[in-house]
Amino acid sequence: MRISDCSIRELGRLLRERELSAAELTEHYLERIERVDPATRAYITVLPEEARARARTADAALASGEEIGPLTGIPTALKDNLCLAGAPTTCASAMLADFRPPYTAAVAEKLLRAGAVVLGKLNMDEFAMGSSTEYSAFFPTHNPWDPARVPGGSSGGSAAAVAAGTAPYAIGSDTGGSIRQPAAFCGVVGLKPTYGAVSRYGLIAFASSLDQIGPLTRTVADNALIFTAIAGHDPRDSTSVPDAPADCLSGLADGVRGLKIALPQEFFTPGLAPGVEKVVRDTARRLESLGAEVSLCSLPHMDYALAAYYLIAPAECSSNLARYDGVRYGLRAPAAGMIEMFQASRSAGFGPEVKRRVMLGTYALSSGYYDAYYLRAQKTRTLIREDYARVFTDHDLILSPVTPDVAWRIGEISDPLAMYMGDIYTIPVNLAGLPGISLPAGLADGLPVGVQLIGRHFAEALLYRAAYALEQSGLFTARPALAEVD
Ligand code: GLN
Repeated sequence: MRISDCSIRELGRLLRERELSAAELTEHYLERIERVDPATRAYITVLPEEARARARTADAALASGEEIGPLTGIPTALKDNLCLAGAPTTCASAMLADFRPPYTAAVAEKLLRAGAVVLGKLNMDEFAMGSSTEYSAFFPTHNPWDPARVPGGSSGGSAAAVAAGTAPYAIGSDTGGSIRQPAAFCGVVGLKPTYGAVSRYGLIAFASSLDQIGPLTRTVADNALIFTAIAGHDPRDSTSVPDAPADCLSGLADGVRGLKIALPQEFFTPGLAPGVEKVVRDTARRLESLGAEVSLCSLPHMDYALAAYYLIAPAECSSNLARYDGVRYGLRAPAAGMIEMFQASRSAGFGPEVKRRVMLGTYALSSGYYDAYYLRAQKTRTLIREDYARVFTDHDLILSPVTPDVAWRIGEISDPLAMYMGDIYTIPVNLAGLPGISLPAGLADGLPVGVQLIGRHFAEALLYRAAYALEQSGLFTARPALAEVD
């Protein structure tokens, strides 16, 4: 078996049984990045020396005979909006091209403490605004299934690296779909945890009432393992919940018998590509054959979700990004006076999509428009949250598409509104703060199609249980040709 085909658990077993050292495993991945990454360009920064040093520490721990956690010596990679002390953390923006944070994100800290080996930092849409990684200020990432196509976004680098086998798992962030949509486009598993489940300390903020960090993996069990490792309370993030995270591992194989699963009728509209609809309906039938009860439900306010999100997210982004003024950190463009310096730095530092969002958000928050736009969007958000709550009074899970279509060609969508429309199935989940998992479930035109399972707040264990049952039933076994490159 190829090392890059091994799950995290399998790699852990190889390390513990001393069939492989952490140093060898790290070298394997560093070489693979050199060979395969030029075709995907998932990485913005590779950190070979840091990775080798951490692999040596892991080997020492393995040799000491002490109790070893499941992540010791296993490589990973981080979306480039997660701070790693001393390493470039660019957010794929000219604004932060030279930024090296003095501290490490809580999620990265947890993984490093668990013995993880960070291989590098992954490409994304600038400041996580986008759905294709084409808005990276540096270069686009290519989909491992077809390099002419986008990997999705904004965590496109994270999904492409896992699909191409240049990282055993990766960490991404999801504000309106940025873990689930690229996971679907690249045929990997991605979880957007419940709002508050994972600390965002050290995540460069986009829209703080929506942002969540989560894992992208090849298998469901790996995903549950990483979620368990990164979840939990952190006093440095005031939105992080104090309760201990649920156990997502022991009930993984409990199956779906008797679970009530809802299919929202509003999601099956003409905008949904027939090939994607077929995969979702086939998955519903498969759940039935595994013993679940599937029925239709209604989420009546879904039509307003996109409009609400594209007011709330830009509003929050406009205030979060106000800190990039050339004074404290980030790009400073030389200019004659202070105001000119602010203007020049922000003009040179931000790309067109980020500027569009800052302007939209500033407008929506401005006096006279606040009530008409921002406040109404917040009220709509409450209605959407209540829609889900109603469904969850008599259903355990919701099954839905992740995206209306498969991955598009690089450069194919130039209208920003058309790109926003693609977020229709993922955004409502962020607005309601619910957990959602994207699971590869089939192919359409030779490209992966994902399905989404949505649960009640903090029901990650149930999402994993259902996703695992589907995966174990042989739902999806295809791999991109690039993953076969040795
Ligand atoms: N595509 C959405 C947007 O552009 C979601 C991005 C995200 O989840 N970070 O805002």
